[in-house]
Amino acid sequence: MSPSEPELDLSQCDREPIHLLGGIQPHGVLLAFRGPERTLAVVSANTQELLGRPPEALLGLPLAQVLPPDMLLQLDAASAQGFARVELQGRAFRALLHASDGLTVLELEPAESEPHAEEHALEWVGRLVSPLPGARGTQALLQAAAEAVRALTGFDRVMVYRFDADWHGEVLAESRREGVDGFLGLHFPASDIPAQARALYTRNPLRLIADARAAPVPLVPFMLPELRRPLDLSGAALRSVSPVHLEYLRNMGVVASFSLSLLQEGALWGLIACHHHAPLHVSHERRRACEVLTRLLTLQLAAEERAAEATEHTRRSALLGRLATQLEQRSSLAEALPRHAVLVLELTGATGAALLLGEQPLLVGTTPPAAEVEALATWLAAQPFETVFQTERLGALFPPLAPRADVAAGLLAVRLEPAAPRFALWFRPELPRTVTWGGDPQKPVSAEPAGARLHPRASFHAWEETVRGASRPWARADLEAAEDFRGALVGVVLRQAEELTRLTRALARSNAELDAFAYTVAHDLKEPLRGIQVYADILQEEHGGALGEEGQRELEFLKWLAQRSGAQLEALFEYSRLGRLELSWGLEDMQRLVEEVLGMLTARLAEGRVEVRIPRRLPQVHCDGVRIRQVWANLLSNAAKYQQGEERWIEVGFHGPGEPRPEAASRYEAPYVFHVRDPGIGIPEQFHEAIFELFRRLHPERAYGGGTGAGLAIARRLVRLHGGELWVDSAPGKGSTFYFTLGRRAG
Ligand code: ADP
Repeated sequence: MSPSEPELDLSQCDREPIHLLGGIQPHGVLLAFRGPERTLAVVSANTQELLGRPPEALLGLPLAQVLPPDMLLQLDAASAQGFARVELQGRAFRALLHASDGLTVLELEPAESEPHAEEHALEWVGRLVSPLPGARGTQALLQAAAEAVRALTGFDRVMVYRFDADWHGEVLAESRREGVDGFLGLHFPASDIPAQARALYTRNPLRLIADARAAPVPLVPFMLPELRRPLDLSGAALRSVSPVHLEYLRNMGVVASFSLSLLQEGALWGLIACHHHAPLHVSHERRRACEVLTRLLTLQLAAEERAAEATEHTRRSALLGRLATQLEQRSSLAEALPRHAVLVLELTGATGAALLLGEQPLLVGTTPPAAEVEALATWLAAQPFETVFQTERLGALFPPLAPRADVAAGLLAVRLEPAAPRFALWFRPELPRTVTWGGDPQKPVSAEPAGARLHPRASFHAWEETVRGASRPWARADLEAAEDFRGALVGVVLRQAEELTRLTRALARSNAELDAFAYTVAHDLKEPLRGIQVYADILQEEHGGALGEEGQRELEFLKWLAQRSGAQLEALFEYSRLGRLELSWGLEDMQRLVEEVLGMLTARLAEGRVEVRIPRRLPQVHCDGVRIRQVWANLLSNAAKYQQGEERWIEVGFHGPGEPRPEAASRYEAPYVFHVRDPGIGIPEQFHEAIFELFRRLHPERAYGGGTGAGLAIARRLVRLHGGELWVDSAPGKGSTFYFTLGRRAG
């Protein structure tokens, strides 16, 4: 704004005291009196014409000296109702009574144009409301109302106007005489109907301006001496019109206007606004008939809205029900959510969703990247809302996501835990939409030089604006669905947690049972096995000759079976004990552990002519030395066992922190990955997991020396007890590499 232009203060409109203008429209007369004497305290300046006396001559007189006695009787009879038909000097008037500023205000409006209005009033109401029940849907209802009001009042144009949350308004229905400009579909900025005008519309639902060109009649006295301001005319039918509003009407080419407030639960929902291009007086009875219409209309609108909401609610509940059942059937949300993405999104009519439960965000549909969603959650956690948060312009509130309007202009969030970044989030993309304003909304008023009165804008030509950066707004049903989802989710998570404790307990029990079983078996079966072995030895020594060659071989086999069963029992016993094992952590030198194991294997290595390579010294790590030595022993003895061909070696090595890792080890973040490599017989891929099962052997025992098939199962269990992992990378004929990592010391 350039310095030569005076600052334009739009709130000035909001401050104009439109109920204290101290004047009335000239088509009627106002008399305000107080006390049992009904002493006149304020009158309109136009009394001469009607009552034959100037205002000064009336003030201070009791009403009884001003109005004829029969008229006073009529007024008394009408005081409960608030209005009456009266006769004054042979003319018919409509008398309206209300209280204001401690005075009783009597307004007299000419009624001669419609002498039998009262008899017709009911018929008019009937005519007005009869189309309503037949209209289906909000649009049809509003249209029917606009047409009925125009038919009854004769205005050139009748519009139904609805306010949005920002008090901008949109013309939703319109009925107009041919040749009159249409405003249907146009938006009007909130400043067109400033705050105090809306407050008046809420208090006094009817407003007639019979002739916008006629000069207002001032009140006498202009100020109430005790209040030092004009009489409050909020409740007066004749209240004069603010100069700003008159100019607004003139700019639109409107001479007479009539507006009816549409109130829902006491709040202004919209207006029925009527315009005429010539002066037009609408009788009190017709105005009241219109008022009855607006009441029925708003009731029916509310009923329609409730019905639509109920239908929507049922649909969402069904969706939620399906979703909840699906989520409960899966063991983890991480697995279940992506499978049911369609339901999750349909629930709130979103295109993307995220669930933040403290780990990696679970994302479905189209969302910003995980890191940005996490940043958003951190920001949301600090926002002061209870459970549900929604915006259609996220970028304006949280600028880091402004560039993501194409996926996340709209955000609907439910808090899952107070003060923690745990949320269910839904996203909607930007929806560029065109709003047609009745004139440029940025310029609702023009400024006059040097602080003069405001002028409402002179142009009502449609002006189009493309609104960017905003998503389709979230409806109440969306918010409710989000909140209900929260409830369902809490249920699912709780039930899953219960299930998990139950499983863990069951698992703990089965470990304990396995241990107990193993102990019993070891104890109970060891003796008979021992017995079989002893018996076989005796048989062999004492009756060996009698058994013959065949018998000898069978006896050997029996002894071998007994011995192998014994070894398996030992292994089972050992394996089952690991469940209860307490590791004893310490800083262990891996080089030393490996050398100790190799020391024990010297004979076998020499026999198999297997060369051992350790390209660089192994590091020191935190672990339970005894148990990890057992792991090395198993891997090294296997590597020695399953050699083949001419090339016979074992390589022991590791990858340290920050060193590039072979692909098989790249997904582990532990500081060290150790390995034992051999160029031996190798293992087909489909057995890479099977070899870690208890008693699982791939090769005939006799071909490769003894072994129970429990070694790798025990080794893996030991490594996992350390928080690490043991796995193999191998192919037949290409040798095998066993890798293992160790986690950090727990606690
Ligand atoms: P075992 O006592 O039979 O060696 P393990 O549990 O140690 O039992 O090994 C299970 C099976 O895995 C072995 O029977 C063998 O088939 C296979 N296996 C283990 N290490 C190797 C290796 N270095 N090369 C080829 N196969 C191996």
